[in-house]
Amino acid sequence: MNEISIVPDEPLDETEQHLISLVEEHRQELITLLKDLIKFDSRTYESSHYSDLHPIANFCVKKLNEWGINTQVIECPHKGQLLNQTWPNLIASLKGKNWKDRRLGFMGHLDIVPFNPDTWTSISDPLQPEIKEGKLYGRGAIDMKSGVAAQMMSIYLLKISGIEIHGELQLILTPDEEISGKYGADFLATQYPEIASATARIIAEPTGQPPIKSPAIIIGEKGANWLRLHFHGASGHGSQPKPKSNAINKAARFIYLAQNHLKFRDPKPPFTIKDLVTGMISRFGLKNLLGSILKPDSEKKKPDIIKQTKTTNNKNSNQDYNEDGVNFNTFLHTSISFNQIQAGTKTNIIPDTCTLEIDVRALPGMTLTQILQDITTYANKLNYRVELDEKLSKDYSIKQKQKILKRNPDITVKVLVHNDGGSEPMDAELTRLLAIQFEKIYRTRHLFFLSPGMTDASHFRKQGIKNIVVFGPSGDNAHNADEFVYLEDLVQCTKVYLTTAYKFLTKVN
Ligand SMILES: [Zn+2]
Repeated sequence: MNEISIVPDEPLDETEQHLISLVEEHRQELITLLKDLIKFDSRTYESSHYSDLHPIANFCVKKLNEWGINTQVIECPHKGQLLNQTWPNLIASLKGKNWKDRRLGFMGHLDIVPFNPDTWTSISDPLQPEIKEGKLYGRGAIDMKSGVAAQMMSIYLLKISGIEIHGELQLILTPDEEISGKYGADFLATQYPEIASATARIIAEPTGQPPIKSPAIIIGEKGANWLRLHFHGASGHGSQPKPKSNAINKAARFIYLAQNHLKFRDPKPPFTIKDLVTGMISRFGLKNLLGSILKPDSEKKKPDIIKQTKTTNNKNSNQDYNEDGVNFNTFLHTSISFNQIQAGTKTNIIPDTCTLEIDVRALPGMTLTQILQDITTYANKLNYRVELDEKLSKDYSIKQKQKILKRNPDITVKVLVHNDGGSEPMDAELTRLLAIQFEKIYRTRHLFFLSPGMTDASHFRKQGIKNIVVFGPSGDNAHNADEFVYLEDLVQCTKVYLTTAYKFLTKVN
């Protein structure tokens, strides 16, 4: 799908044109900076298994200091066995006149997810970046060392531009976004609120992935709710099947019918459908949009079940089985995915229990009570009685039909993880400004979206810090083999950051 070019509502002013030419002049330096960042092994696996984040943090400090930007590193002590280990949080700052009045914050994370080099077909070593046909490949290329490089470069270019700013441009680089944010964003938000708070903040996570060519503006994220459902059934001999009471059958029925019958009563998304549709039409054209995006899954043409799965020699065979494509409904609705199942002891024994773990991503504003109730209402339709596990039932209650309550519980629910989603109003100052700057640079309509996954923004929002948007370079395969960023987009994004900072920090109240 091709994006449609527009003439932006506002032309670039002279200063903006100067800033854009500065970015062009530093194109090579920007690319080299990104390559240097990728060469650091900053993998985090889990909170007990991770790389030392100090080498890459020290590199960034050195670079920023060479550019004349002040930095500060706040170490967060590791909790648990490794008592001597600390996690570095880097804060860089460019202060102008009346710097205490207004702060624009940039933010990124320096850690990357692990990889298996054998599954990469583009390059042999994911820590040795290479450019091929306008794409820069490497682990962290898009998630999110490109965003970090673009924001670092923007601070530097704003400094050397000679523009007198009112307020402060700050950059926070955290060490552990990929594993929890406990030692980074969460630590800063709870222990250093004066550093974490800002008039407004842009997190440079990637926001443009196929089929969107240029980045969206993410104004909020959905909440993650991980639930464990324990199905109760009746055991027996495998030679005498029990289709109704076999616990695997019960779970399978629950999974299979959910797609069409489990309805979450979603709150309104934080953007209007009109705004979303206008943005989408202007980017993709009406025909493409109606054809593939807006129709709900159930109305789409039924898949041809005899269609052969295509086979290729691609080593990344996971892709061969991906028949789902991009599901735009996940941005507008609460979603459910069934991701772990355990049951059975022997081939000839009917299982009496089955454990199913589900990932519910809820729109901002949806409460855990609503989620539990909607799942219960659906389960009741299948004639299943739901009970909340002991701990959960202390704080929550669910309504069920009297008739159902006469049954023994069919499903016991336990909550493993619960996070509320959050979002910013579309008309917030930075959100509006970013949309305008985006259209000027990219010459296509902006798109507001929700992030289906969590970012460091959620730690900040939890502490009441507001006005955070996510916007970063386009590419593909984040957390996957052959991760890459479009080099042109790295440059374009830098222009958006830089001109947005200029506009935001030259506005005198
Ligand atoms: Zn990331």
